[in-house]
Amino acid sequence: MPSMSPPSTDHPATHRVEVTTDRASAEAVAARLWSRGALGLWERSGGLVAWLVAPMDLTADNDPPAVATALSTAIWSIEEDRDWQAEWKATITPIRAGRTVVVPTWLAAEHEAAPGDLTILLDPGRAFGSGHHATTTLCLEVLDDLDLAGGLADRAVADVGCGSGILAIVAAKRGADVIGVDIDTDAVAVTRENAERNDVVIDARHGSVDALPGTVQIVVANLVTDVVAQLADALVAASTDLVIASGITAERQHVALDALRAAGLQVADVQERDGWIVVVGHRPGSADA
Ligand code: SAH
Repeated sequence: MPSMSPPSTDHPATHRVEVTTDRASAEAVAARLWSRGALGLWERSGGLVAWLVAPMDLTADNDPPAVATALSTAIWSIEEDRDWQAEWKATITPIRAGRTVVVPTWLAAEHEAAPGDLTILLDPGRAFGSGHHATTTLCLEVLDDLDLAGGLADRAVADVGCGSGILAIVAAKRGADVIGVDIDTDAVAVTRENAERNDVVIDARHGSVDALPGTVQIVVANLVTDVVAQLADALVAASTDLVIASGITAERQHVALDALRAAGLQVADVQERDGWIVVVGHRPGSADA
């Protein structure tokens, strides 16, 4: 779980609270702050900082003593107006993966595309997938290589865990017929918005592998290690040719790889970056195997 998230801009955060706590109580304190409507929360050594719309009593009956002390000695102050969205946006830059360049919508006007680039305009909004995570970049590179080999145009592709829609949109731009599924309804909405922004049609659905209407040729799934392992049978069964799976930590890659192999996948390639891997494998008997 990320230790920091910027306050949402829908409700300007004006009240800042600083809680001094040891590590043992930090999780309980953070949970209380979120449950009281914290708009953003920052963990730092020695405590937490959060933003709320109004000052309030943060304590509850039966708090363990350390939590009660931390919450009752919290220090409130008024936060001068800060433009959180602007601060966050300033940290997001275009990223390149092979010939694919992902440009945040707010930088579109100043971005100059190089010849041969596939430029995708993206506003990740509330969904994961700005392209800045190593797992997304690894998947984008695999898709780019696949396209160079002529393996995306006119193929049926499913993006399981589509998030912002980034992978689905790239596949669709390369001529694939794409279905995106995500268990997060926000992600489904964001995928649709980003697809429209990039003039591609994505069949975005709420759900997981079981929400796919049938098999596809290529499944791309950037999830997390344990979910890839849990869904391994379904991911392999959903594809006739190729499975691209990521979100897998290098450290625990055996968990996902064992499950994918047990599901019958013939692993052809594993790439690693920043402690994450992407697995590319073939369905037994597929044309590519
Ligand atoms: N495809 C994007 C987003 C990956 S983040 C990218 O590559 O950057 C992983 C996404 O998977 C999240 O949006 C999350 O909601 C979704 N997800 C998590 N578990 C899932 C499951 N079991 N089935 C489908 N989607 C899932």
